Parts: sequence; structure tokens; C-alpha cells
Amino acid sequence: MKKRNTILLLGILSIIILITAQVIIIRGVWKQKDEMFNLRYRLFSQDALVRMDRQLSTDGFDTARLLISIKSEQAIKEIAEIKDDSILAKKKKEVFEYVTYVLNTQQDLSQYLSRDFERRRIDKNFNSKIIINRFELINNDQRIPVYISEEFANRRAPQRNDTLRGSRPPRSSVIQLRRNSEILVKGDRSEDNFYRMDFDYIIDFSDKQKVILGETAASLALSIFSILLVVTLFLITYKNLMEEKRLSNLKTDFINNMTHELKTPLSTITVAGKTLELPLIRTNESKILETAKLIGKQSVHLNQLINMILEISMWERTQFQLEKKKVKIEEVMNDIVESFKSGCGNCASLTQKYNFKGVSVDLDTIYFTTLINNLLSNAVKYSDKDPVIDIEGFTVDKNVCIKVADNGIGINKNDQKHVFDKFYRASTGNIHKYKGLGLGLYYVKKIAEAHGGDVTVSSKPGKGSIFTVTLPY
Ligand code: ADP
Repeated sequence: MKKRNTILLLGILSIIILITAQVIIIRGVWKQKDEMFNLRYRLFSQDALVRMDRQLSTDGFDTARLLISIKSEQAIKEIAEIKDDSILAKKKKEVFEYVTYVLNTQQDLSQYLSRDFERRRIDKNFNSKIIINRFELINNDQRIPVYISEEFANRRAPQRNDTLRGSRPPRSSVIQLRRNSEILVKGDRSEDNFYRMDFDYIIDFSDKQKVILGETAASLALSIFSILLVVTLFLITYKNLMEEKRLSNLKTDFINNMTHELKTPLSTITVAGKTLELPLIRTNESKILETAKLIGKQSVHLNQLINMILEISMWERTQFQLEKKKVKIEEVMNDIVESFKSGCGNCASLTQKYNFKGVSVDLDTIYFTTLINNLLSNAVKYSDKDPVIDIEGFTVDKNVCIKVADNGIGINKNDQKHVFDKFYRASTGNIHKYKGLGLGLYYVKKIAEAHGGDVTVSSKPGKGSIFTVTLPY
């Protein structure tokens, strides 16, 4: 049990490690693809920007700058008149909103990029946006801050003596702060006599994840496949291990049961032999006869047990050697049941009901007798009250069906699946109370199959069991 748990634990642990390793690898590949995508499109966009500048001598923001300049000049005048702080804040907000609107609507860069991408057959849809980092109005030499983004303020903090003029923030820091799917195409600083502003032009590829997924699909599929393969292999190995363990347990049980079964007749014979040596017995002829009979009976039983074990080990190597002949099934059944009844000294109340329509079946009667006897003796053996056995026989299609129903202890659902297995003994109930080797039903199944038929069981614990044998005729 402990060993089994350790194996299970180690297996699960290795699978977890494998999955973690695969996830790390996939994430690495994804990140690399993502960076390559960004780099590729940043280069494409910047290339387009250079071309735009060369062909049209503009970066696409000239109209926006002109409008912002006019608005700034006007705003400076208005602000000079304002004394109240809250009105001033409102005014600044209005200016900032206007600048944002103009930058987003009055620019030609997005259109140019779209056309350029189309020309180069890069059919990727993108969204563009402008992020203003800072906007200041300039009234002669006086600067009136209107807006400064937190990012921008933080970035500038260490540069206390910086006059602002001409100093460009390191772009990489801005890029890092952006969302992963966004690509910074252009960072711009514009200024004239009335304003100064810093803004970033950013594009965002909405289908980027899909593109990367397509590129990484092969390695992703390979990873999933390898994980599935390892998990399946582990499950198969573990199942085989458990099956081997179960068989080895069954074998150990069998050896214990067999020793027990063989010891009983042997010790009876030993005791009987010793009894015969007693002077008191030697003179009593009837006692001698009785003891001799006992020895004979026990030897037959011992012989039967040994034969059964030998026969089963022979079946493992060779096929059944049946000597079949056509027999009237009803007659055979009557004979078997009658001799069972007298053999066990009327140990059970037995009823028979047949509707075989006089059919004959190709049977090896010796094996078939063993089959029915095993079912009947189990019905008697596995009973905790006076055994009542109902035997029913009829024909279905081209088969004869024989049902043996008892009022015994019954078999639970799980054991029903295994009772026909070699050496299997149901776990419920006291094993020593009901002696056996776990071979009787295995024998029954083998014989039924050798005749081209089958045997099944249905049972309710505490209520009884029904064994159904089907044989073709
Ligand atoms: P054995 O009787 O030697 O144990 P069998 O192969 O005949 O072996 O039966 C296998 C198991 O099936 C038995 O251990 C018993 O638990 C269960 N079994 C068989 N027949 C019956 C029955 N009629 N009623 C209840 N349990 C049964």
C-alpha cells in the first residue's frame, strides 16, 4: 500500500514537473514571438514614417499643430484674465481635451500607414491612438503647465537641472510602460511660441494574439501531445502494476486456501490411519470398515482437488479436449440434478422447470456435469439458511438457457465482475467460513466457452444469486 502510494505520488510529481517545464518553454517561445512581432511592425511603421517624410515632407501632424497653436494663443489670453483657481483648472481641462481631440482627428499618419501596409501586402488591422505625455502653454518665457502624465513626471524626476529644452526621454522606458500589444511608432515633441507638448503615437494590432498562436501552434501541439503521451504511459504502467499486484495477491490467497483444503483430508487420513493401529479397533470389524471407507472418501476428495489443479494448469498450455456428442439436454439435466440431490444427502430444496422443446445439444457430458455441479454446490455452500435452489431451462433463438437461482448470501456488484476470474474469491463474508480455491466458477466459465456458450451472474447481496448458462444447439 505504502509502495503503491509512493509510486503514484512520484508519477504525479513527475507529470507536474513535466507540465511546468513545458509551460515555461511555451511561455518563452511566446514571448520571443511577441517581441519579434513588435520589432517587425515597429520597423515597418518607422520605415513608412521615413517614406512619408520624404514623399510628403510632413509627419502627418502639421494641421493638428497649427490648430493647437491657434487654440494655445487664444487660451493664454483667456487664462491671463482668470483669477479663480477652479475656473483656471476648468479652462486647462478644456484646452487639454481640445488638444487630444485635434491630435487624434486631424492627423494623416494612420491613413498613410494603412495605405503603406496595404501596398506591402501586410493585411493586418491596427488601431492607433495618441497619448499626450505633457502639454504646456508658453506665455513669453513663462510656462503654464496644462497636463503632465504620471509616467512622464516620474521619468523626469532625477533630472532636476534639466532645462527641458532639447532633452529627450529614453524611449525604451516609455515602451516598457505600454501595454504589451502596443507598438510605439513615433514619440514627438512639438513647440512654438504658444505651446510645448510631448506625445506618443501608438498602434495596436488586435489580431496579434491570433498571429502568434498560429506561429506557435506546432510547438504547442507537440507539447500537449508529449504531455498526453507521458500521462497515458504512466496510467497504463500504473494500471499494469496494480493488476500484477492483484494477481500476486490472488495467487498468495490461492496457495493459502489450497494448503488449507489439502490439509483437511490429509489430516483426516492421518488420524484414521492412527486409529487403525489401536488394538481396540483392530478387533472391531465394523469400525475397521468405517475407517477404511473414511480414508477412501478423503483420498478421492484429495485426488479430485489435485486433479482439478493439474487440469487447470494444463488448460493454460493446451486447449480443452472435449468429447462432444448430441444429447437431449432435458434428460442430462434431470440426471445431473438427481445425482447431486442424492450425493449431498438432500442438502437443498431443489425445483426444476424445463421447456427445452426436446432439443439436443452437442455436449461433453462429463465437463457439463462438472459445470452444473459447481453451480449447485456453490448455491448450497454460499447460503446462510436452508438452501432453496430453482433450476429453470428454456430455449432462446438457437440457444438453450439454464438458470440456477438460489436464496444464498448473494454477491455484491464489484465482486460480480470478478467471480469468474481464476483464484478469485469474493471479499465479503468470512473466507474461512466458506472454504474454496476460487476455481469453481472459473471452471464453469471455461467449460461454457469451450462449448461456444457463456455464463453470467446477477445477484443481490442478502437475497440470492442467479447464474445463467447459455449454450448453442
Ligand atoms: P470458491 O467457491 O472456491 O471460492 P468459485 O469460483 O466457485 O470459488 O466462486 C468464486 C466466488 O464467488 C466465491 O468465493 C463466492 O464468494 C462467490 N460465489 C460463487 N457462487 C456463489 C453463490 N451461489 N452465492 C454467493 N456467492 C457465490
